[in-house]
Amino acid sequence: FWTTKQLEVVLVGLENSGKTTLLNVLAGGQDMETVPTIGLNVQMVRRGGVCLKCWDIGGQAEYRREWRRYAMGCDVIMYVVDSAAPARLASAKRELHRLLEDRQLSSTPLLVLANKIDLQPHVGEADLIKELNMDYIMDSPWLIIPISALRRVNIDQVLNWLTKQSR
Ligand code: GDP
Repeated sequence: FWTTKQLEVVLVGLENSGKTTLLNVLAGGQDMETVPTIGLNVQMVRRGGVCLKCWDIGGQAEYRREWRRYAMGCDVIMYVVDSAAPARLASAKRELHRLLEDRQLSSTPLLVLANKIDLQPHVGEADLIKELNMDYIMDSPWLIIPISALRRVNIDQVLNWLTKQSR
């Protein structure tokens, strides 16, 4: 996966969804860079041909322009959701669809990671599709993979998906 062609990946989601944990897993011990910006804490990992950029989405509206800068030219979006926090799904949905309103991103392949499936109870895939209004996403090909970043469950599926996107 790390030696295939250039791939720009943005990893976004609400805070506490598990992005940093996942980024660490994907980085496999590689140092993470924190990019100094205003109002946006971007973490970045480059490894082989892959550049992963990670930040919280939601935050304040005035920083949207900032993250747009980081999302520009990305090949794929990974959107992390805390599947064990159903109360946050409405915000997760709103922010996801807001992200996809951006013309730069609206047709970019989207991988939704339903994280924290090691916790019980958690929202299942069918309910997530409903709660996140996935059926309204017409322009970008999307997929949901249930994972546990902490317990490293289904991480191989994430890597497989990324590998496919880089061909
Ligand atoms: P971020 O704010 O999106 O970067 O989220 P973090 O990666 O900092 O994770 C937030 C909290 O959730 C931390 O306490 C993590 O240890 C925890 N966490 C992350 N992934 C998982 C997971 O798969 N399962 C469980 N149980 N906890 C997780």
